[in-house]
Amino acid sequence: SHTDDNNPARSGIPISLEFFPPKTPDGAEKLKAARAGLYALKPEFCSVTYGAGGSTQEGTFATVAQILAEGVDAASHFSCVGATRARVSEQLQQLRGMGVRRLVALRGDLPSGYGAGGEFQYASDLVAFIREQTGTHFHVEVAAYPEVHPQARSPEQDLQAFAAKMRAGADSAITQYFYNADAYLRFVDDARRLGVDRPIVPGIMPISSSTQLMRFSDACGAEIPRWVRLRLQGFGDDTASIRAFGLDVVTRLCEQLRDAGAPALHFYTMNQAAATLEICRRLGL
Ligand code: FAD
Repeated sequence: SHTDDNNPARSGIPISLEFFPPKTPDGAEKLKAARAGLYALKPEFCSVTYGAGGSTQEGTFATVAQILAEGVDAASHFSCVGATRARVSEQLQQLRGMGVRRLVALRGDLPSGYGAGGEFQYASDLVAFIREQTGTHFHVEVAAYPEVHPQARSPEQDLQAFAAKMRAGADSAITQYFYNADAYLRFVDDARRLGVDRPIVPGIMPISSSTQLMRFSDACGAEIPRWVRLRLQGFGDDTASIRAFGLDVVTRLCEQLRDAGAPALHFYTMNQAAATLEICRRLGL
């Protein structure tokens, strides 16, 4: 690792990048160009989402293969909702055959009214199954929710479920995005008290459009602080001001997280290079 946690002067922090599988040839070309620009940041790995927004498994695996061919470590997201053991086992073999060494293991979400017949209930079941089938071949990451998963019965139950998921064999975790560093820091403290000693990496969502951000955040339970929401709404369709404000807010968040000892930063790039590159430039990365 190129970091030294004992050196207070360090400015370096490992980063990773997340993409979604493009749905059109044009989208694939744009993503390829975005990746080429982003590789200047020397990411530890790039991850590709799975099943989200109706995307296919083929799209995920194809994008993962391209990243590996570009000489960069790649993580395939992998969701288990509605899946059978036999099918998951096949897909794990396929990923292994492709040379994949990293997975982000998720339950995933299905449209309501669909999903009977699945043999996995929670992401922890998938993590245990991956370990049972493939031993330590894969570095397995799981999802964490500093502001609480929207379907959790209570924050305490969600935290316990997270700790159980780590105990099932995860190597590290990536959080849902948030704009309140204290929510993350408290979550990490609470998880440590429950015996979780593996890295919990904050997920960072750059702000480049206000409507997109509001729409997303409603669905996944990430809170946009009132002052951020009102400022964004106040800019109307002045995209230059939205971008400038978004860069300030997110860079400051990253600085706070780095200063507080976050082990790495995972950027939700939304397949765009500009905002992530500019935030990392400001961070001196
Ligand atoms: P789980 O960890 O299984 O938790 C789901 C819910 O069940 C939580 O409310 C939890 O508290 C509860 N729970 C868990 N275990 C128990 C238990 N034993 N008893 C009672 N309750 C329990 N979605 C996609 O479709 N594709 C992706 O590629 C994708 N990537 C993501 C990447 C990250 C970093 C994050 C943070 C999320 C991602 N998601 C993705 C979204 C994710 O699929 C949803 O948030 C989903 O609703 C939960 O998945 P999970 O793996 O966190 O589920």
